[in-house]
Amino acid sequence: MYSFWERESILKSDIVIIGGGILGLSTACSLKEKNPSLTVTILERNIVPIGASTKNAGFASIGSLTELIASEKKFGTEAMFQLVEKRWRGLAMLDKRLGEQGMKYEHFGGFELLSERELSVHQHIERINKLLFDIFNMDVFNSTPSKIQQFDFNPELVKDIIFNPFDGQIDVGVMMRSLSQYASMLGVNVLYGAKVTSIWSEKDRVSIEVENPFYLQSIFTCSKAAVCTNAFLPNFFPEIKITPTRGHILITEPLAELPFQGIFYSDGGNYYFRNVGNRILIGGGRHLDKESEITTELQENKFISTTLKHKLRTVVLNDKNFLVDTIWQGIMGFYETQLPIISEPRTNTFAALGCNGLGLGISGTVGEELADKLLQ
Ligand SMILES: Cc1cc2nc3c(=O)[nH]c(=O)nc-3n(C[C@H](O)[C@H](O)[C@H](O)COP(=O)(O)OP(=O)(O)OC[C@H]3O[C@@H](n4cnc5c(N)ncnc54)[C@H](O)[C@@H]3O)c2cc1C
Repeated sequence: MYSFWERESILKSDIVIIGGGILGLSTACSLKEKNPSLTVTILERNIVPIGASTKNAGFASIGSLTELIASEKKFGTEAMFQLVEKRWRGLAMLDKRLGEQGMKYEHFGGFELLSERELSVHQHIERINKLLFDIFNMDVFNSTPSKIQQFDFNPELVKDIIFNPFDGQIDVGVMMRSLSQYASMLGVNVLYGAKVTSIWSEKDRVSIEVENPFYLQSIFTCSKAAVCTNAFLPNFFPEIKITPTRGHILITEPLAELPFQGIFYSDGGNYYFRNVGNRILIGGGRHLDKESEITTELQENKFISTTLKHKLRTVVLNDKNFLVDTIWQGIMGFYETQLPIISEPRTNTFAALGCNGLGLGISGTVGEELADKLLQ
């Protein structure tokens, strides 16, 4: 039986957030920053989050030129502009909360490798730079072909490099640990190892059941709840059609020398790589086996990991040798809209979705919008 104290002060909160990834933590921080007297609890199912936030590549990025052109074509100029603005503002929020040290931020810029057939993106650079001038007050995308030689890429494969001085890179483990500590410092009760099995809404109360081997039942109650479980949202709301998508990442052992630093997109964003000290991290390739990668299973797809090794050798390292340290997977949640959305699938229970494949920045702004809804 739970004690009176446990029931009144731990199981009961004003707001409960389910999911302790970057979105859940950011939402909790925004709630406490706006209203310090609120009691806020986060329920995360594992001792470390198991989704995307601790598994990603650590690109602190507003997006590559080709991604933004494709986004504009599909969703329109205004939506693309808003996407960039929200990503950029969210990155600034992360910086304000944690500082550069709190996420081991490094600023070498972002680069996009263009092959011969991708050179047509040049025609958009001036227009996109003009559009984004309102946010950045200077040109964002710059053609820098001289970097092909400087970075020792194969000039047969790489015909130009688009440089973006606003992109940076972080250590995702350090960032998530610091964000959890920052949330705790604000008074958020972050509970790890708390797997939610069901949520039900009554008139003025939301009840949340957590798996617990010691008691028959652990029921948390609150006035409002926010479900930030990303790709796992359909476990609670089957009507939400978010697509769980697996991403692979490979990191090498340290290399004797590395001619570049920064974050890099290649093949229209199908592949991405960066330096981590003297190592290289490379990810992507899910377009090669789309069907199999629509999954929440954290298992290796050998075809994709082999392709990543091949890309690393041919495109990134210009045929130099490397040793693999680790290969891992993370699960993204893809939603069809360009901008994330916040819905209320059950009374007083909210869900935020659509941070997609580049969520480190935008989670801050979405968390803030979600906090505003919860406070209404
Ligand atoms: C391989 C990969 C590379 C990426 N690279 C980048 C990058 O470089 N830059 C970038 O900006 N973005 C990147 N992303 C995307 C980014 O990581 C995501 O957009 C972001 O982390 C989403 O955060 P989230 O909090 O919404 O979801 P998640 O991090 O998935 O968090 C959801 C949490 O909910 C928890 N949960 C699920 N079910 C339950 C339950 N029943 N009870 C309690 N808790 C539950 C999970 O354990 C998980 O911790 C990448 C993603 C992947 C997978």
